Amino acid sequence: MSRRCAPIGKGSVNVDMPHGHESAEKRGEAGATSASDPVMPPLRPLLVAATLLLAAPLAAETPAPVCGAPWSPAEKVVRPRAPGAAVAVPDVAGLPPTAPLAPALRGSIRRVDLPAGIKLVALTFDFCETSTEIAGYDGAIVDELRRRRVPATFFVGGHWAATHPGRFAEMAADPLFEIANHTWSHANLRFADDIRLKREILAPEAAFRAARATAQCPTPDPIAAPATRSKYLRFPFGACDPRSLAAVAEAGMAAIQWDVSTGDPSPFVSAEAIVATTLAAVRPGSIVLAHANGRGFSTGAALPRVLDGLTKRGYRFVTVSELLAAGRPVIGETCYDARPGDTDKYDAHGRKPNPKPLPEPQTPRAAPSPLRPSL
Ligand SMILES: [Zn+2]
Repeated sequence: MSRRCAPIGKGSVNVDMPHGHESAEKRGEAGATSASDPVMPPLRPLLVAATLLLAAPLAAETPAPVCGAPWSPAEKVVRPRAPGAAVAVPDVAGLPPTAPLAPALRGSIRRVDLPAGIKLVALTFDFCETSTEIAGYDGAIVDELRRRRVPATFFVGGHWAATHPGRFAEMAADPLFEIANHTWSHANLRFADDIRLKREILAPEAAFRAARATAQCPTPDPIAAPATRSKYLRFPFGACDPRSLAAVAEAGMAAIQWDVSTGDPSPFVSAEAIVATTLAAVRPGSIVLAHANGRGFSTGAALPRVLDGLTKRGYRFVTVSELLAAGRPVIGETCYDARPGDTDKYDAHGRKPNPKPLPEPQTPRAAPSPLRPSL
């Protein structure tokens, strides 16, 4: 079990993670009734009262949210989805309207040019999930960021939010983190027809709202009300084209890609390699790509050393919004990993005919691959 340091909802439990729920209940029972209770008798009534206060929301909340439940490493495991157990695409009709993206932000944003002497870096973590799997939740990463009070931006797939509503609501309620869109089912948008393109872009927004409603995690900062619509979208596979870029911009979102790829979706990339790659590549204004959906195989192990190394080099961690506000975005006409054209190899995952309306994506990611298909 990892120690959880979330600043929110410590009296609540996990609705979709029975393990966390059970632990919370056991903690409460032991504190109040154990015959071998080592607490001094005069303190016992206070402890009982505190326990009851903490437990009070449990009875009132149906279903109980995940807020504050300890993380279990079992949550990191990526599992195949049972055939036929599809996740319903949420209705996007109720989404609030949003204005198209300003022309100055259109294109593929890779990094931000900053004034001389300003050393900011934006760490970003993707929570990808296709329709053929249930991806993981790497709480070691989220908890480490919280423990050090390091801001980060999470690019979350709509599918992931739908299958992890509690964890999603918990992250969205934490003002340390910024939530952004990573499409509905991790599709290669270069090959999505118009209907699917709309679904991939907008369905996550509806899924986010539904997840928040399912598990309402209180925020410690009432000013940090969750955004009604995401400001940013990240293209899966680092694959976009003019048509999909325009569609995202019309939906009011800026395309945030990266200039530093940790390579963490490959199980062959060690923590040492992630640390070395990241520390060597980051420069002021960088946007760093990593994963926290269970496919960042060594990311959690590397993160403390990445944070230490960048801090020692004088960097300050910020969200993507804070980074954009501090300088001028570097915008490309297309998306790529390290150089233009290098993500064309992922086109095999999307170049499929669409014989029926809204086909499911073709993104096999069960087997380890040096191609890093989890981008
Ligand atoms: Zn992804």
